[in-house]
Amino acid sequence: MSIPNTRAKEEPARTAVVTGGTSGIGLSIVERLATLGYRIYFCARSADAVRDVQERFRKEGVSIEGTTVDVSNSSEVDSWITSISERETIIDAVINNAGTNGGGELGNISDQDWNRILSTNLNSVFFVTRALSRADLIPDFGRIVNIASTAGKQGIAYATPYSASKHAVIGFTKSLAKELAPRGVTVNAVCPGYVETPMAQRVREGYAEHYKKTEAEILDTFSAKIPLGRYSTPEEVAGLVLYLLTRDAASITGQALNVCGGLGNY
Ligand code: NAD
Repeated sequence: MSIPNTRAKEEPARTAVVTGGTSGIGLSIVERLATLGYRIYFCARSADAVRDVQERFRKEGVSIEGTTVDVSNSSEVDSWITSISERETIIDAVINNAGTNGGGELGNISDQDWNRILSTNLNSVFFVTRALSRADLIPDFGRIVNIASTAGKQGIAYATPYSASKHAVIGFTKSLAKELAPRGVTVNAVCPGYVETPMAQRVREGYAEHYKKTEAEILDTFSAKIPLGRYSTPEEVAGLVLYLLTRDAASITGQALNVCGGLGNY
C-alpha cells in the first residue's frame, strides 16, 4: 500500500535549511544531510566557523552554503532567507537548531540576558519559519524540525529563561503542526536531554561555579540522573531528526520526541 501523505514523486536532490550548523548537534545534522546528498543552507553566529564548515564540506563535494546570521534578529533572518529564495523554489527540510544556554538565580537575571535567551531560542524559530513561509519555500509534505529540549517539558533549577524558551518552542511546534497539517507538512520538536557538545561544556562550567564544585563532579551528578548513565551524542540526536525527514515519518506531526537516555519520562 502506498503512503498517502508524502510527495507523489521523490526528488533526487533535496534541500535543507539548518540554523546553528557549525557546532554540536547542528553540525551532526549537517553531516548527515551531506551524506544523503541534500543541498544545504546553514547559518551560525561566528563567521570563522561558518567559513571553516563550508570549506570542509565543499572539499568533500557537498553542495553547501553557509551564512553568518544572528537568528535572534528578524532582519538578518529575512535577508538570509531572501538570498536562499533567489536560488531555490522549495526547502524540503527546515531544522531550527540554533540555541543558547543561560540563566542563573532569578534575581540575578538581567533583562538583557532574558531577552537574549528568549530571542535566540524562541523568536529565531518564529523568524526563520515565518520567512520561509512568506517566501513560499515550504512545499506541501515538507518537514520542519525544531530542536527544543527535555527542559521544554520539565523545569530546570537556575535555567528559567532557557526552560521557558524551550516550553514555548514546543507550543509553537504543536500549533504550527495543526496549521500546516492540511498540506501534509509535518512539524515536530526533538528534545535532547544532556548531549555532549560545546554548549554542554558551558552548562557544566556554569553549574560548577554556582555549586562551588569541579566540572568533573557536575558531570558525575548529571550522568547519575540519566537512566542510561551517560550523555547522548550529537549523532544520536541527528539520527532522530533525519528519521523525521523520511517517508516513514510522514504521519508523525505535532510531537515533541526525546533523545535523552531515559531522563525525561514523557
Ligand atoms: P552548540 O553551542 O554546540 O551550538 C550552537 C549553534 O547555534 C552554533 O552553531 C552557534 O553558532 C549557533 N547559534 C547560537 N546562537 C546563535 C544566533 N544568535 N544566531 C545564529 N546562530 C546561533 O549547542 P548544541 O549543544 O549543539 O545545541 C543545539 C541545540 O540543541 C540548541 O537549540 C540547544 O538548546 C539544544 N539542546 C542542547 C542540549 C545539550 O545538552 N547540548 C540539550 C538540549 C537541547
